[in-house]
Amino acid sequence: MAKEILECSFCGRKKPETNLLIAGIDAHICDKCIDQAHGIVLEELKQSKSNNLGDLDLKKPKEIRAFLDQYVIGQSETKKVLSVAVYNHYKRLMQKQDDNEVEIEKSNIIMVGQTGTGKTLVAKTIARMLNVPLTIVDATVLTEAGYVGEDVESILTRLLQVADYDVAKAERGIVFIDEIDKIARKSDNPSITRDVSGEGVQQALLKLLEGTVVNVPPKGGRKHPDQKFIEVNTQNILFIAGGAFDGIERIISKRLNRQAVGFSASSHKEQIDKENLMQYIIPKDIKDFGLIPEIIGRLPVLTYMNPLDKATLRSILTEPKNALIKQYEKLFAMDGVAFSITEEALDYIVEKALEYKLGARGLRSLCEAILTDAMYELPGTEDAKLEVTKVYAEKALNKNMLQRLKAVS
Ligand code: ADP
Repeated sequence: MAKEILECSFCGRKKPETNLLIAGIDAHICDKCIDQAHGIVLEELKQSKSNNLGDLDLKKPKEIRAFLDQYVIGQSETKKVLSVAVYNHYKRLMQKQDDNEVEIEKSNIIMVGQTGTGKTLVAKTIARMLNVPLTIVDATVLTEAGYVGEDVESILTRLLQVADYDVAKAERGIVFIDEIDKIARKSDNPSITRDVSGEGVQQALLKLLEGTVVNVPPKGGRKHPDQKFIEVNTQNILFIAGGAFDGIERIISKRLNRQAVGFSASSHKEQIDKENLMQYIIPKDIKDFGLIPEIIGRLPVLTYMNPLDKATLRSILTEPKNALIKQYEKLFAMDGVAFSITEEALDYIVEKALEYKLGARGLRSLCEAILTDAMYELPGTEDAKLEVTKVYAEKALNKNMLQRLKAVS
């Protein structure tokens, strides 16, 4: 009996003309048709997602907080404030457009705190949780249009790039503007030269923060003059600004002293925690630092980051979901190396980070310096085992890093 030649029930190709023919209950499909159908499915899903907020995974403030807790140690005030601000922001997006309704205003955020205290980490974690595009820009590279540097529109170019040029997706993304304090007005003295990096940039940022339609050069910059602009509405983009605001404690302290004198309430004064004045920050302090009132008005949620103390740094090493030590464990495990580190060694790393004022970022460089030799030597050896003790850490650090640090400090 002649063997029946199977064919694809979709395109009719005979089995020999296909690479693969998959059998169903009553039909067959070839690899080419699967490919095509897959493309159609992806396109359809993309359409339906960008038309509504279907893929926006909005959680309640307490859930947002719990997610942040997995990655960010301490900073509980900021985590709470941010959870509410982010929740409200995205609730605002989900609200049906109805003229009669109360209009919920944007809740852009400004975070004040020393460098390395987790400002960027918080913004990144929120974007990851919500599954929205995030771009991080450095305010110091922004200049007024016409000057050397990047126009503020470049922020949106980057957001578009992160969103794979899906405009709808970019329009509900998050922009983290780092070092916002560096575009503060340099001084109150009127100057004959224009303050290129300062007030002009603040003015240019205003519109973006508030919500406006911007013509964005998709490739950015002035290098591609022929490109077609893409319109991006910033109305629903959440802006989070961060800055160290070096020296703002003095402004806060002065204000607090004035208040205390004004009220002649000595009890007030006693309650002030002089070690961490940042917690008393109010918008006026930021204005006195040199941000223009209009900018401050458009960043209505103000919060602060605590400096990282010993206990926090210690927790950062081991507790977050992707804590450094967990990462090294994994790296070693991939080579079959049993890695462990003693409590004393961990304390030692923290002490060195504090001693050399390296902050949380320094923890990584310290760990690298301690573990590089082992990561070089151990892979490929049988039954390898590494226990990092304080003595081991001290020796490795002295060899690989401390000499250099001592030279600069
Ligand atoms: P900032 O933006 O305030 O300068 P980052 O968020 O970039 O600081 O922090 C630098 C690194 O330090 C982060 O990648 C993270 O590993 C670590 N880090 C800082 N603060 C914290 C924190 N509170 N919890 C966990 N890790 C932190």
